[in-house]
Amino acid sequence: MTKSKNRLTRLQALMAAAGVDLVAIGPTANMRYLLGYVPHPDERLCLLLVSAERVNMVVPTLNAGDVAAHTDLPLERWPDADGPLPALQRAVSGLSVKRLAMDGTMRADFLLSLLNATTPAETITVEGLLAPLRARKSAEEIEALALAAAQAGRVMQAAMDACRPGLSEAEVAWTVEETFRKDGAEAVTFSLVASGPNGAFPHHHSGPRRLQAGDAVIIDIGATLNGYQSDITRMVFIGEPPADFLRAYEAVLTANERGRAAVRPGAMAQEVDQATRGVLESAGYGDIFIHRTGHGLGLEIHEAPYIMAGNEQILEEGMVFSVEPGVYLPGQFGIRIEDIVAVTATGVRTLTDFDRQLVVKK
Ligand code: ZN
Ligand code: ZN
Repeated sequence: MTKSKNRLTRLQALMAAAGVDLVAIGPTANMRYLLGYVPHPDERLCLLLVSAERVNMVVPTLNAGDVAAHTDLPLERWPDADGPLPALQRAVSGLSVKRLAMDGTMRADFLLSLLNATTPAETITVEGLLAPLRARKSAEEIEALALAAAQAGRVMQAAMDACRPGLSEAEVAWTVEETFRKDGAEAVTFSLVASGPNGAFPHHHSGPRRLQAGDAVIIDIGATLNGYQSDITRMVFIGEPPADFLRAYEAVLTANERGRAAVRPGAMAQEVDQATRGVLESAGYGDIFIHRTGHGLGLEIHEAPYIMAGNEQILEEGMVFSVEPGVYLPGQFGIRIEDIVAVTATGVRTLTDFDRQLVVKK
């Protein structure tokens, strides 16, 4: 409760500075961040409303008992037969809402109800206020992310053990999903297994293609553990890797190492991107490194800070993000090596400690 009170108080201070009269949050990662809890999300309107005067929630009666067990905020309940509007009107009564900041990731029909109950002159998303708060993780959050990273390492080992000629990508992906769930993950966020030419598509969906000799296999996996995300990519080669592949692998590995070494408080996000990109450009792979170097992660798999050219955001202690350089050769293979790092007071801590050497399977 104290943690959530602190976060709500900090949000109210930011609202005052930004001239925001009301913040409306749906049952999303933003609510989980602010309350340490999120009710079951469905089509029924559920909103956390924050103003200078008060903090309250509008919740369907169906879920009100569960919400009341997790928070002591005042609740405006609405039964299915009434619809949410009367409860919403009670929740905002007396407020003068000129500038509304709404959760950019909540349902659009929640927003329409809100615009019925208030008549703001201006509506913006709350991400500009919340993203900087969420980007600087507490020590407790970093430990949660470290636990998630360790779990992803155990699952990576299982996936690598499963890889053999004749097995399909989807079958390896199933091993990933099963192992995550048996290890206690709440949900598997993704289980990407991309073999041979499929590896050249960074967001390939694991499919029926069977692993065969000569395949480079990208394994990129992540899950939710205690609300926090994991994300790691490693590589397997089936059979004897050719020299041109090994040369590219070494370049990506060096890019990953240089990128992580560039992480420190005070550096700009784009400097980490420059560090990985510089290695791949001088090795001749610059034009096939087709994505940003990384993304923040926490309660969500992609959040601030984004590690890319043009982002002059200053890295601060507590920020957590991926460093995932890759090269993609259409029709042939892809290579990506991805780690999750946390900015410390003096430098960097890599949360994913799984070995980065290429695993060759005969
Ligand atoms: Zn990934
Ligand atoms: Zn990633």
